[in-house]
Amino acid sequence: DYSQDASGPIRQTDSDAAIARLSAVKLGYLQDPFIKFLVQRPHLQPPRPPLINVGTYVRSEAIDRLVNGWLELSAAEGKKCQVVSMGAGSDTRFWRINTGPRKDDLAVYIEFDLMENTTKKTMAIRKSKELSEQLENVTLEHGGTTLHSTKYHLFPADLRIPPTESIAPLLTSPSLEGPILSPNLPTLLLFECVLVYIAPEASQALIQWFVDYFASSSVLGAVVYEMFGLNDPFGVVMVENLKVRGVSLPGAEPYPTFESLPRRFTRHGFTTSEALTLREIRKTLISREELQRISSLEMLDEVEELDLVLAHYAVTWGLKLPSGQNPPSKWI
Ligand code: SAM
Repeated sequence: DYSQDASGPIRQTDSDAAIARLSAVKLGYLQDPFIKFLVQRPHLQPPRPPLINVGTYVRSEAIDRLVNGWLELSAAEGKKCQVVSMGAGSDTRFWRINTGPRKDDLAVYIEFDLMENTTKKTMAIRKSKELSEQLENVTLEHGGTTLHSTKYHLFPADLRIPPTESIAPLLTSPSLEGPILSPNLPTLLLFECVLVYIAPEASQALIQWFVDYFASSSVLGAVVYEMFGLNDPFGVVMVENLKVRGVSLPGAEPYPTFESLPRRFTRHGFTTSEALTLREIRKTLISREELQRISSLEMLDEVEELDLVLAHYAVTWGLKLPSGQNPPSKWI
C-alpha cells in the first residue's frame, strides 16, 4: 500500500511539475494545449516565479528536442518507435506527439507511475473530451488504475520494487494480444525527474531489465532529467528545501556528480552517453531569438540564482546500438 509510506510528498511533486508547466504555458513560454486538463482548477492556479518558468521552459525544450530527434532517427530507419515513460505523472507528451507531425512514427507510448497518480490521470482523461478523443479503443482495468488504448497505456507500478515483480507482469496482460512492448522496435526510455526518488540499486535494476528485454539487434535510447551535485553548498540547500516539503531522497549519497552522469547508461552497455546541464542547454542550444523572446515575457531579477539552479539540473541521454552500427552524427 503506497499510501502507507512516505511517498505522499513524492507523488505530490507531480502536481508541482504540472502547475509549473501550466504557469509556463499561460505566460507564453511554452505551448501545450493539454496541460490544463491535468491540473485541478487550472484557472485558479497562480503563476509561478520567473525562475521556475524559465527552468521549466529550458527543461521542456531539451527533452522535446531529444524525443523529437529520436522519432526522426527511427523514422529515418523506416521503423516506428516505442516510448516508455517512468514516473510520467501528468506529462502530456503522448497527446502532443499524437497531434503533431511525428504522430505516425509512434508505435506505442507507455507510462508508469504510482497508483494514486495513475488513478488521477485516468480520471482526468475520462473527464476531458480533448484528452480522450486522442485515444482509440480505451479500456480501464483494475478499478480505474490502469488504462489501455491502441497506442497509449498507463500502468500503476512502484519502480522501487524489482522490475520482474512490478513492470514485467503488466506488459504481458492476458487481456491483450501479445506483449504491449515489442522487443524488436526502436525504443526510448524516459526518466523525467524520477530517478532521484529511487535508490541507485533500484534505478540500475530497472535500466538493466529494459536492456535485457530488448533484442540485441534493436536500438535502445534513454533520457534522464535529474538534479545532481547535491553535495555542494547550493545542492545541500536544495535537498533541505525538499525535506521541508516532506520529500526525503533515498540514500543516494554521494549524489551523482556531473562527470558521473553518463555512467547511468554506459554501465549497462550503452554505446554512447552524454550529459548537459540546463545552464549549458540554455546557453548553447536555445537560439538567440528564442532567448530574447523568453526574456521579454517577464522581468527576471535573480539571474545569478537562475544560473546556480540550472547548473544543478542535467539531461543525460544514451544510445545502445547493435554491434557494428555507428552512432548518428546528431541527436539533440
Ligand atoms: N515525469 C513527470 C514530469 O517530468 O513532469 C513527473 C515528474 S514528478 C517530479 C515525479 C514523478 O515520479 C511523480 O509523478 C511520482 O509519483 C513519480 N514517482 C516517484 N517515485 C516513484 C516510484 N517509486 N514509482 C513510480 N513512480 C514514482
